[in-house]
Amino acid sequence: MHIGIHEDGQSDAIRTGGATGYLTIDLAALARNYEKLAKEVAPARAAAVVKADAYGLGADRVAPRLYAQGCRHFFVAQFVEALRLRPLLAADAAVFVLNGLQPENELACARSGIVPVINSLGQWRQWCAAAKTLGRTLPAVLQFDTGMSRLGVPPEDRAMLSEYVEADGRIEVLFIMSHLASADDVDSDQNDDQRAEMERISVEFPEFDVCFANSGGIFLGRVYHGALARPGIALYGGAPTAGRDNPMEPVVRLDVAVVQTRTVSAGTRVGYAASHVTTGEMRLATIAAGYADGLPRSLGGRGAVYCDGIRLPIIGRVSMDSIIIDISALPAGRLICGSLVEVLGPHQTLEDVARDAGTISYEILTGLGRRYERQYC
Ligand SMILES: *Cc1c(COP(=O)(O)O)cnc(C)c1O
Repeated sequence: MHIGIHEDGQSDAIRTGGATGYLTIDLAALARNYEKLAKEVAPARAAAVVKADAYGLGADRVAPRLYAQGCRHFFVAQFVEALRLRPLLAADAAVFVLNGLQPENELACARSGIVPVINSLGQWRQWCAAAKTLGRTLPAVLQFDTGMSRLGVPPEDRAMLSEYVEADGRIEVLFIMSHLASADDVDSDQNDDQRAEMERISVEFPEFDVCFANSGGIFLGRVYHGALARPGIALYGGAPTAGRDNPMEPVVRLDVAVVQTRTVSAGTRVGYAASHVTTGEMRLATIAAGYADGLPRSLGGRGAVYCDGIRLPIIGRVSMDSIIIDISALPAGRLICGSLVEVLGPHQTLEDVARDAGTISYEILTGLGRRYERQYC
């Protein structure tokens, strides 16, 4: 269902739903983005990264939709996320924990049918011990650090790990993987360095399939694809490559209600700390979302919202629950209490808001608040 925003800017939903912000998540667009990425990497396969509640969009809705689209590999960051996700997917879907095995939770992990990404020799030994205790083979992904220094087996431990893998047949290695640190920058030398290192690793561990590219990596070309790609942001409509046209479809729309309008004269102080003082008569509206709803304070005096395609600048500071906007460019009476303005939508992308806030689309998306009424369509 799409909320009814009429030509006159009024919304039925605001009167019926009671919320003052509407986050519309287009699951059909999400599915088309998955299709596009799957085609791009074929004959390799595309997984889905659904960590942080599917980048804030609701893993309980996103993951089953992607499963229906043919996705069978799902990555989360934390064990608790995997525990929540596992029962929502059929047994032929794999759920991987990027952050690896925590001490003491290997049996819980094994019993829940969750696949850890093994990041160290210690985690390998832990997982082997669990396999021995349970008397069965356990699946795993082996992650290697190829130059990001964040997660994965470091180069100096590879020879030892190779011996472990040969010596202990209780672990079924599904993939060897690594993560690109600069994949959104097509000109970065680091991409090629990491790819070369990953190629050396696949020579050292020749029997296993490679899982390598994130969203950006997919668009670096075929040599980055391996057997399984791991897109996150591109599924949700974020741009995979910085400074290029975004080939993905938007998935998220955010409309926020006006809760008051006023006309002020020159010399009027606006918002906290009077960081803005008007220089002439101005019409203002206060909208019902603020930094507690994921619109960063850094948007104060820099960001904007839209109505009828017209840019309405954010004036003064962003409050916890509200933002003041300049509506002087609109005809008088166009916005009244209850009217909706566009925060994310056809006129303003995630990247636009992220740039104005001095951050990246990932942070805007994962920060979108819990007070919005979420509508899936
Ligand atoms: C978050 C993450 C991804 C997804 O990255 P995107 O840039 O959102 O596509 C893939 N792999 C790992 C290891 C990650 O942490």
